[in-house]
Amino acid sequence: MPQLEIHDLKANYGTHTVLERINLDVEKGEIISLIGPSGSGKSTLLRVLMGLLPPISGGVRVDGRSLDYANPAQLREIRASMAIVFQQYNLFQNMSVLENVCVAPVKVQRRARKEVEELAVRLLTKVGMGNKLDAYPDQLSGGQQQRVAIARALALQPSIMLLDEVTAALDPELVNEVLDTVRMLAADGMTLFIVSHEMGFVREVSSKVVFMDGGHIVESGTPRELFDNPQHARTREFVGKIL
Ligand code: ADP
Ligand code: MG
Repeated sequence: MPQLEIHDLKANYGTHTVLERINLDVEKGEIISLIGPSGSGKSTLLRVLMGLLPPISGGVRVDGRSLDYANPAQLREIRASMAIVFQQYNLFQNMSVLENVCVAPVKVQRRARKEVEELAVRLLTKVGMGNKLDAYPDQLSGGQQQRVAIARALALQPSIMLLDEVTAALDPELVNEVLDTVRMLAADGMTLFIVSHEMGFVREVSSKVVFMDGGHIVESGTPRELFDNPQHARTREFVGKIL
């Protein structure tokens, strides 16, 4: 059974259709990259997966259970297996690095503070931030803040991570330290849904690349298939422009 199944999904903003006929199965440990021009619906797809936007039709199954968008309690429970990191890291400015990572597991998931703190220190050390536990976000570079944001998402102990352009707001010299962190998650076997314009990175880490345009999946395949032998003119044009 796939860990995540997206079946004939359609989603609107108001009357404006932004996703249509989206079908995708994701196996545990797969690394799916969504690529496509701005406005093609990549972020919207992640919002639907997170339960933040109910689809007009079609559906999403996580570990075989259908997301019931009309049932907030069920949605919260299933959503607990997913965590998202955005382009804007949105750390709490008035909290230390350690507290940023601990607050949701303690306050929302009601886990024991001691256990959460131990995990937080482990995760922050893993992303190279173990020496900044007491620092505040405004004392950190963008790349450091984004690594804290990734540790914060990991502290929720998700089985799927969604990463929406996590390097897009960073200065070029800071991009690699964050990509290295994502490489580490990939090596750990975490199921990842990545939206990125870093095509070298996408090509290197993805098990499957999905090209979206105009709210549709135009084609998907292995990095080799999609980048070296695209089947559709629209894909060729996009891939040709960015490589
Ligand atoms: P991408 O992430 O691929 O750039 P988005 O999913 O953000 O694309 O956007 C898909 C389409 O939905 C675009 O046409 C965008 O203008 C529109 N859109 C995005 N967010 C909203 C919103 N909150 N309200 C209305 N339209 C939106
Ligand atoms: Mg987007």
